[in-house]
Amino acid sequence: MDNTARIILHIDMNSYFASVEQQANPFLRGKPIGITGKNQERSVVATASIEAKALGVKTAMSTWEAKKVCPSIILWPGDPEKYSDIMHRFNAIYESFTPNVEPFSVDESFLDITEEAEDYFGATCMAQAIRSRLYEELGEHITASIGIAPNKLMAKLACETVKPNGLTVVRPHEILDLLDRSELEDLCGIGPRIKERLNALGIANFKQLREFPRENLEREFHSYGTWLHEAALGRVASAPLLFKEGLGVVTSQQEAKSYGHSYTLPQNTSDPRVLKRYLFGLADKVGWRMRRDGVVARRVTAFVRFGDPSTSLGTGFSSHGEQRTFQEPTADGMHLFQIAWKILEPISLVDVRLVGLSTSILSGDPTQPSLFKKERNMTSVLSALDELQHRYGSGIWKRGATLQTEFKSRSSGFHFDHEI
Ligand SMILES: [Mg+2]
Repeated sequence: MDNTARIILHIDMNSYFASVEQQANPFLRGKPIGITGKNQERSVVATASIEAKALGVKTAMSTWEAKKVCPSIILWPGDPEKYSDIMHRFNAIYESFTPNVEPFSVDESFLDITEEAEDYFGATCMAQAIRSRLYEELGEHITASIGIAPNKLMAKLACETVKPNGLTVVRPHEILDLLDRSELEDLCGIGPRIKERLNALGIANFKQLREFPRENLEREFHSYGTWLHEAALGRVASAPLLFKEGLGVVTSQQEAKSYGHSYTLPQNTSDPRVLKRYLFGLADKVGWRMRRDGVVARRVTAFVRFGDPSTSLGTGFSSHGEQRTFQEPTADGMHLFQIAWKILEPISLVDVRLVGLSTSILSGDPTQPSLFKKERNMTSVLSALDELQHRYGSGIWKRGATLQTEFKSRSSGFHFDHEI
């Protein structure tokens, strides 16, 4: 079907972790709160409540900076299980409207409602009905913004325009208008560094991006330049890397998901052995979650954040991340670790504050016999171990490698930073 003929709804919970806590605890309502990791001193604000945002607190600000900006802020340790439980509840609500639900992150989903809504009027009615169900079933403090547009990228952008609790409808002929009302950085797929590079080329908005010679963009950014050009015309369905390219929504939930963990180290380190240990722990944990959900991945992204507050970005820390795509899919923590370490090893790992790993390009059914015997044996061993882990809880088994490196933070050391 022609891409412009689709109707996609993007639903994004407002200040998600903070509003879940405010819903659960009346004491927190109406107050500036920041959800953090367990080790608050070294953590960042994963979500600021609407009240905290109004006082200048931003997502990913370090806790010390948040306290400086907003001395009255209440820092509250996050509860990932609670957020994931509620995520399943709202996705179940969405699925009662259409089977075509693609969870994009812990608090955002795409719904392809082309068949169910028929037109934009129907889509608007459906959005209101979904909002009523969220209100009834999750409570008045958990609110959502909704964007409706002909593709995922524009639906997400539309959703950004009115927050909190907004509903924005962008019909095919209104796409360029939406882009021209938006900042470059509002678009999913254009980060601060890309924006700086575009600015250096004399491109400050989507109109200028659209009119910039495509070949010059491609010379500067390669295939990403093509994407930028098409995105400025509203013609691409999704962002590079983050979304599955192509039409509409991926119907399989598992295909759309990614798995990831990051960890803020107790102390900054330049010791590769220490980083390896933590990276292995993260890979093992990601692998375990994937096997539990019955998926395998063909892409690994590894990243580190350094200890220096970056001057160019103001609030963040400088970071480095890269990804590798490979042929034979895996959910084995050891493989994931090896690939991730190949990414990080060549980097100058000095004064590292955070390390993270995520997997994507997922597919189901890892029980499908592997073509390679070694793989097959490993898969069955891992299944047996997972069975034990399910029965007796995490920490029942440790690989030889973890024991050798005295990796001891399996159960105690991990804490929530970002569920990616
Ligand atoms: Mg949100």
